Amino acid sequence: MKLPMIIVHGGAGSWKDERIPVGIEYIEKAARVGFKVLKNSGSALDAAEACTLFMESCGSLNAGKGARPNQDGVLELDAMIVDGSSLQFGSVGAITGIQNPISLARYIMEKTDYNFFAGENAKRVYDRMIEEGYRQEIESGVVETVNISPSGDTVGCLVVDSDGNIAATSSTGGIPKKLPGRVGDSPVMGAGAYANDVCGASATGWGEHIMRVVLSRMTVLYVEEGLDVMVAAKKGMDMFEKKTGSEAGIIVADKSGNHGYATNAKAMPIAIIKGELDTLESHACLE
Ligand code: ASP
Repeated sequence: MKLPMIIVHGGAGSWKDERIPVGIEYIEKAARVGFKVLKNSGSALDAAEACTLFMESCGSLNAGKGARPNQDGVLELDAMIVDGSSLQFGSVGAITGIQNPISLARYIMEKTDYNFFAGENAKRVYDRMIEEGYRQEIESGVVETVNISPSGDTVGCLVVDSDGNIAATSSTGGIPKKLPGRVGDSPVMGAGAYANDVCGASATGWGEHIMRVVLSRMTVLYVEEGLDVMVAAKKGMDMFEKKTGSEAGIIVADKSGNHGYATNAKAMPIAIIKGELDTLESHACLE
């Protein structure tokens, strides 16, 4: 049984050897968090938000609490959530003062007439989200995990629910030593993540280059054109490397629960659960 399923990545990059098991530990936990939401009748979006929120809150991955600071020493976060069934998305860029941009991204998608907020004014939208009770805070800027309704490195996940609906996320503190105000691929629809009613993808790596080839959308297109999902992931990465000479990684999942992944970076921890919790498998995805 392939559905429901979740595939999670903890970021592609030059992981220190001793950090790889830590990254795997946290993405395994995040995959379980998301999968349990699915098993409790949560939607693909509920599970994708819960899984990503866990990774933003764990403090050990480059997202949320554990994000890399910019050159001013400030955490400026980017995130996106995509609903493949409606081709809708919500994005947040360069936000400061909050830990969980993924919940704000979902609020933007579901409760505003817009798709993308950035900078200081994005925090005002966050404040409105809390005031309206869309999510609760446990402390200023920190969203409480349990209130998501079921009723290292950059993170992302793909969730396919039992009906074949796909949700995709990405969340990051960005590349090392980024200039203040820099926004990467992670909140850019089609670049950092993409999903439609056929397939979804979530990318990680050097954002400036991922955007140039619209990596997630291109990889999904390869699946739409008939390629096997794993082959499409590898083709996406080959195309990326050929056109940019840069480093990245990608995870892919189609509506039937087939998955793929590829990276040309040193490592990209991934975790996958399909059908039942005890099918959890993880890899360091070493090049
Ligand atoms: N893609 C992210 C960015 O460029 C970084 C990463 O994936 O580690 O902001």
